[in-house]
Amino acid sequence: MEFELGPIRPPSETHSLPVRVTRNCPWNRCKFCRVYKGQKFGLRSVEEVKRDILSAKAIQDKFLELSSKSGCGGRLTKIAASAFENTSSEAVRSVANWLYAGGRSAFLQDANTLIMPVDDLVQVIKFLKETLPSITRVTMYGRSKTAAKRSIEELTRLREAGLSRIHIGLESGYDPLLAFMDKGVTAADHIMGGKNVLASGISLCEYVVLGLGGVKMWRDHAIETARVINEINPEYIRLRTLAITEDMILHKEVDSGNFVRLTDEQIIEEEKLFIQRLNCHSDLVSDHVTNLLQEIEGRLPNDKDRILAVIDRFQALAPIERAVFRTGKRFGMYNNLDDLNDPGQSEAVERVMARLGQDGEKGLNN
Ligand code: SF4
Repeated sequence: MEFELGPIRPPSETHSLPVRVTRNCPWNRCKFCRVYKGQKFGLRSVEEVKRDILSAKAIQDKFLELSSKSGCGGRLTKIAASAFENTSSEAVRSVANWLYAGGRSAFLQDANTLIMPVDDLVQVIKFLKETLPSITRVTMYGRSKTAAKRSIEELTRLREAGLSRIHIGLESGYDPLLAFMDKGVTAADHIMGGKNVLASGISLCEYVVLGLGGVKMWRDHAIETARVINEINPEYIRLRTLAITEDMILHKEVDSGNFVRLTDEQIIEEEKLFIQRLNCHSDLVSDHVTNLLQEIEGRLPNDKDRILAVIDRFQALAPIERAVFRTGKRFGMYNNLDDLNDPGQSEAVERVMARLGQDGEKGLNN
């Protein structure tokens, strides 16, 4: 009762059943990404994926059996919670987590599931929904380049089979930056890919990376990304903030001076410009721990002023308060600006700053 799992999924898919349809990333060259480095891309066969789906069903059936025997009358929540706590099998934990949340959603891994031949993908999605009928929502990652090559008819077939949403890493809409980062797509690809997805009736979530432009390109990154997003008009825009680790190609660019990071406060300025330029009808979501201001969230255009007011509020703080907030957020002690009103928390953050030897004017950056 095991099945294969890929390494990641978006935070919004935490409770989705992961179904690995392809392995790793067919592009695998983006300088800011380390997830699949050194791993070879591969398509899995439909039969292989079907066997995994049957394994997930076997685990679900086992839970149902345990639930009946233990007098829970087939209710799965309690059994799933207990299994989640007591197993070392990632597959069993995934099914338990999925059932605990209601068993309604599945996420097809890995980085660009859209590259799978459409006939095969249709078979997989149909089999998934037939085998696990509680699933009403199926999502996956896809690259803009691939979505731009798929016809609206092909994408419509996927939607009719049951595909609900595609998550696309747009990252930036500025061509020189996309080229520098070796993203392998252009702004035109992003626009065409996004429009194809929406025309097929599949929901679209575009991810934007704050800070990606660095000191040299931040302004164009903000302006051009907003332009591209406006043209696509996706249902969701999700924000991530660039975090550079040693195993990224981008780290070498930092070492050689080719890429100079923005400070947290400069990233907020970039974020402000980006949001100011948005005139789309989308949900803006900041659901990632890397983002300094996670309360930036709302429906555009109606909530735009309220969202920008969050940035104004941060920028109007005294330098020492901004430093305290940055430090508290980066150390996981604060979630949002209101946490600054908690004197106990603020004292704890100031103690951390004292230990770090910071002067309170500079605070933490990156
Ligand atoms: S396409 Fe996505 S998964 Fe692949 S290297 Fe780029 S960012 Fe990473």
